[in-house]
Amino acid sequence: MTNSNREDPRPGNRMERIQQGVRKRTLLAKKRVQNITREDVKAFLLRNGFVLFTITAVIVGMAALDSKASGKMGVRAVVYYMTTTIIAVFIGIIIVIIVHPGKGTKENMHREGKIEPVTAADAFLDLIRNMFPPNMVEACFKQFKTNYEKKLFKVPVPQNETSVTSSIISNVSDAVKALSQMREVVIPVPGAVNGVNALGLVVFSMCFGLVIGNMKEKGKALKDFFDCLNEAIMRLVAVIMWYAPLGILFLIAGKIVEMEDMGVVGGQLGMYTITVIIGLLIHAVFVLPLLYFLVTRKNPWTFIGGLLQALITALGTSSSSATLPITFKCLEENNGVDKRVTRFVLPVGATINMDGTALYEALAAIFIAQVNNYDLNFGQIITISITATAASIGAAGIPQAGLVTMVIVLTSVGLPTDDITLIIAVDWFLDRLRTTTNVLGDSLGAGIVEHLSRHELKNRDPEMGNSVIEE
Ligand code: ASP
Repeated sequence: MTNSNREDPRPGNRMERIQQGVRKRTLLAKKRVQNITREDVKAFLLRNGFVLFTITAVIVGMAALDSKASGKMGVRAVVYYMTTTIIAVFIGIIIVIIVHPGKGTKENMHREGKIEPVTAADAFLDLIRNMFPPNMVEACFKQFKTNYEKKLFKVPVPQNETSVTSSIISNVSDAVKALSQMREVVIPVPGAVNGVNALGLVVFSMCFGLVIGNMKEKGKALKDFFDCLNEAIMRLVAVIMWYAPLGILFLIAGKIVEMEDMGVVGGQLGMYTITVIIGLLIHAVFVLPLLYFLVTRKNPWTFIGGLLQALITALGTSSSSATLPITFKCLEENNGVDKRVTRFVLPVGATINMDGTALYEALAAIFIAQVNNYDLNFGQIITISITATAASIGAAGIPQAGLVTMVIVLTSVGLPTDDITLIIAVDWFLDRLRTTTNVLGDSLGAGIVEHLSRHELKNRDPEMGNSVIEE
């Protein structure tokens, strides 16, 4: 009997088995490549990009602000920055909720893990707890979440567990007790990469930066240290950016295949782009000019007309820092704004006042949640608004800096950070528009601060030295 006559015990014919083998190997290889790419991108963005870059950027921004922001002019500028940034964030949130550009599929729901809906009280308490992490090193790896982990992982609950919501209503001391008990049942979210306590790190960095700024001369060494660290990380990022286009190409290609499965491509990205444009237009064409008019009672459009060159430069360079010299020129020469105001307000504004970036970060995070069919509760939306504000403060005035600080916003509510690749394809365009909005916000802010400070400016003699402005 020859071999060919022998019955093959394996199922299917030879051709089918070969095809099956090839399919298996291809799938395995695809999975390996995907894992390497995703984990590398996540590790880079989160560990190096987020933890180091964001902490140093926020500290440096806040320290710079405080060392200069002495006097009434500083307070006015800060109030203006915060007000307009918060308005921008809320416009972004409202517009993306109304237009709803991202539509996920049911199967795709909560693909990062089975996250069950949490009550608003729980989410709010998580928010507070995450804002003040007990351990800063731990905050780089762990985020606190409450009840749903209890259900999911069956963590032993203290015997006399109290309902936090009812305790708050009935008795403050009970609520405090319940809070301290809840801390015991809190466990870190598994998967450290997405569990970075972004909010805690940002809040700490903000406080730290403010304190350093207040220390004046004594804090200078620390300020210089974080300044240098921030600069070094920026340079590292610049080097890595050289190979980024290749990595991004593959990430986008992979994402498009994935998105096509989910029906995301084209239509949704187009709708997302239109939503961002509408949000930016509302802020730039209505809110900011209206605010300028209400405060100064002057025609905002005449003022904006004088800024045309700066706005076009912002559109062309995607960088508010690169536009800064032109912004100075337009404000001082065309609009006649006092140099003492522009030199104080503009450099700080170009670093920390980014309305367009804040609006975009909040909007993009909610779009990513929509694409993932991830239902955000009220507490998470508040988290997004706080982190988007912080992320815009932390973003440098350079092209696509907002895309890096997006990680802060996404991690704060547990959204997949590699989904940033969903929006990279259109970011080169949206970056230009948000940079233009940023520059417009800084410039109108200079006009508003000058108007509010007109009395002090009249009384002060610039030649005699000025406590506020560093000439
Ligand atoms: N490119 C923006 C700017 O320079 C920052 C950002 O990426 O949002 O203002």
